[in-house]
Amino acid sequence: MEMQNTIGSEAAISGIALHTGLRVHLRMKPAPENTGIVFRRTDMPGSPEVRAFAPNVIDVRRATTIAAPSKAYVVTVEHIMAALHAARVDNVYVEMDNAEPPIADGSAGPYFKMIREAGIREQNAPAKIWTAKAPLYVENGATTMVVLPSDVFRISCTVAFGETALDTQFHSLEITPESFEKELGPCRTFAAYRDLAQLIAAGLAKGGSLDNAVILHDGAIISNDGLRFPNELVRHKIMDMIGDLFLTGKRVRAHVIAIKPGHPTNVQLAKTMLAADTVGK
Ligand SMILES: [Zn+2]
Repeated sequence: MEMQNTIGSEAAISGIALHTGLRVHLRMKPAPENTGIVFRRTDMPGSPEVRAFAPNVIDVRRATTIAAPSKAYVVTVEHIMAALHAARVDNVYVEMDNAEPPIADGSAGPYFKMIREAGIREQNAPAKIWTAKAPLYVENGATTMVVLPSDVFRISCTVAFGETALDTQFHSLEITPESFEKELGPCRTFAAYRDLAQLIAAGLAKGGSLDNAVILHDGAIISNDGLRFPNELVRHKIMDMIGDLFLTGKRVRAHVIAIKPGHPTNVQLAKTMLAADTVGK
């Protein structure tokens, strides 16, 4: 039987957050069986906790934000959630002295690496696995997401941003710790140049730079070091989906097919999956 996992030892990372632009220290700690992924705001009185769970999502504009009834909130959880989901870590405390994790290089790679270095420790409870009993879908404007039964976790994704000839992309792969590390972990955050003014006006992307993002502008892709894969953009979108779908509180085992996904529909799908899970139980 597949068992739940936590990390073998504590692990820490610090750096600048993408949206708040603030410096933050993050520490992951092992957690007991059935804890789930629980963030702790150590900068707030009493270090309030927020569980990474779809019903706790309060904002999906550009990033996924979760909050607790105590009003403690955590912004941009998707990359750390993707790394934990892919590494099959079910239980962990994530302590932060600010509202948003470090963006690092804009990818989930540094988070996956710190989890690998901390080690995986098997626990004494069966893993919670989300499986599709029947096809499910959500639609929202140009976005469609379909979930089909499958014995493995697979994502097939199409994106089309319309900024350059290069940004209509498709990718499909089985999600395993190995495929994540090689194929998805290195893929960075990106933004369309025309959206930057709007992001900045909304008080977002204060920590954004070419050190942690790829910019699409006027038919070109602007990046510090080129692209890590010709289809890095769609791979990053797949990574975001892996993070957002872990908000079901379970490891996903299904084939998820997505056309132009984003955080709003990812979270809507996670909620639909949760609702389907309670039917027939
Ligand atoms: Zn992302």
